Amino acid sequence: MHMLLLPLLLTFLNLSQAQPPSDAPLSSTVCIIGAGIGGSSVAHFIRKYSPDLTPTTKIRVFERNTIVGGRIATVNVAGETFEAGASILHPKNLHAVNYTKLLNLKAREPSSGFSLAIWDGNKFVFKTIEISSNLPLFDKLLKLPFIENLVSLVNSGLMFVRYGFSLFKMQNFVQSAVGSFSKYYEDTGSRPIFETVDEMLKWAGLFNLTTRTLQDELVDAGLSPLLINELVTVITRINYGQSVYMSGLGGAVSLAGSGGGLWSIEGGNRQMAVGLIDRSDVALHLNEGIKSVADLGDHYELNSTKGNNYICEVAVVATPLDEINIQFIPPISIPERKLQHTHATFVRGLLNPVYFGLKATAKIPDLVATLEDPELPFTSISVLKKHNEEESTYKIFSRKPMADTLLNSIFSVRKETIRIDWAAYPQYHAPEIFAPFILDGRNLYYVNAFENAASTMETSAVSAENIARLILSRYFGKEVNP
Ligand SMILES: Cc1cc2nc3c(=O)[nH]c(=O)nc-3n(C[C@H](O)[C@H](O)[C@H](O)COP(=O)(O)OP(=O)(O)OC[C@H]3O[C@@H](n4cnc5c(N)ncnc54)[C@H](O)[C@@H]3O)c2cc1C
Repeated sequence: MHMLLLPLLLTFLNLSQAQPPSDAPLSSTVCIIGAGIGGSSVAHFIRKYSPDLTPTTKIRVFERNTIVGGRIATVNVAGETFEAGASILHPKNLHAVNYTKLLNLKAREPSSGFSLAIWDGNKFVFKTIEISSNLPLFDKLLKLPFIENLVSLVNSGLMFVRYGFSLFKMQNFVQSAVGSFSKYYEDTGSRPIFETVDEMLKWAGLFNLTTRTLQDELVDAGLSPLLINELVTVITRINYGQSVYMSGLGGAVSLAGSGGGLWSIEGGNRQMAVGLIDRSDVALHLNEGIKSVADLGDHYELNSTKGNNYICEVAVVATPLDEINIQFIPPISIPERKLQHTHATFVRGLLNPVYFGLKATAKIPDLVATLEDPELPFTSISVLKKHNEEESTYKIFSRKPMADTLLNSIFSVRKETIRIDWAAYPQYHAPEIFAPFILDGRNLYYVNAFENAASTMETSAVSAENIARLILSRYFGKEVNP
């Protein structure tokens, strides 16, 4: 071969390798509806797994609100910022761990040594201890790590006395579910791309948990009725506003969200969504909701609340479809699903000890949780911050709005009150029936189909990663092997 021909030939070979397969498009637009952790993660994983597509593939993210984050949001109470929606992450939430590193965010450990009590409407049926003193010097001494460890040991002992070995059975149940979930972080070389939620759950060994209630699963695991009716109930109520009759996988995730090592992101968890969008070379359309998605053969036309039309070869729905009104042409079919509404009420003030039959506010534990009783007007009340003896900021979760008269009886001082009505998560019913990931058999995808398994920041990210791989393989003809 003539030496001068060699560079020419190499250039030609390189060029021909860089061409997309003949049926793949030369330039395309992926449109994502919703800028929560799900939508931002889809954008992130498309870019991460296929950087070579960046010059030719536009990603548009539409968000009906004026800010990014969705159900990860902060609230400002009397000048201070607190998590208003999703607040805690599990140590094994590896996407969140990676996002934190990638985006240079700072992890914050939750404050240790808080006290818990279970309220039945008349009395506390269980209470951990907390030691504090009105004298600042003594209070400082009591906060020394070895004293705090001692208190936590005593509290573990109190739990053991009440619930016995069932506590270990509960831990095993949770660890097994968390272990199965960890399969979703396996290398993409050995991890399939899933076309349906059922397939995805079956592969990890989690599907059966969605077919039975948490109650049934825990009875089979040997937990005592007392533990199920008290501690487990308290946890499912706080995390999902539901009873132990919710489906088993959501229940297991809820229990995992009450274990050790939980964390959050300093300055607000929503920075994950903000950071992912910032890094993913997307056109972000804030304050622009999508009203309709029409299939026009080889592309979709999205029509927005601003009256704009967008042409997209791939469309991704990254929001639950249950309470929003997007018109699909032709119509799509998904199983009916109801969302659990959680009313989050934030109060800066002081709890009234009389409401709880106590003499001093200091005797009220940091977290007051409640049993499953329709008469009880709230699910939980927790202290977010103690400002001083006269004032704290509290978060109340309830299934119904907290009326002023009710708040006036629970609080002796109330300086500021903020109410948020969250369309929070699905109402979980076993057996769960899942909507499709691929809504129309073409290029219209649904991240929140996975939310019937469980609703967390991490499960949205896990679903989003699978959707990104589906898009890359089905539309762009790319296998992902980073
Ligand atoms: C009170 C509460 C507490 C929670 N606690 C935790 C917790 O401690 N830990 C945890 O991991 N998870 C928790 N969760 C669950 C967690 O918040 C969600 O599972 C997760 O944030 C869902 O993310 P997503 O992106 O899938 O959906 P979303 O966050 O709901 O994002 C969807 C986005 O789409 C937008 N949108 C909707 N319709 C349109 C439209 N037509 N056009 C354009 N945009 C649209 C919405 O405005 C929203 O921003 C909690 C949830 C609530 C409500």
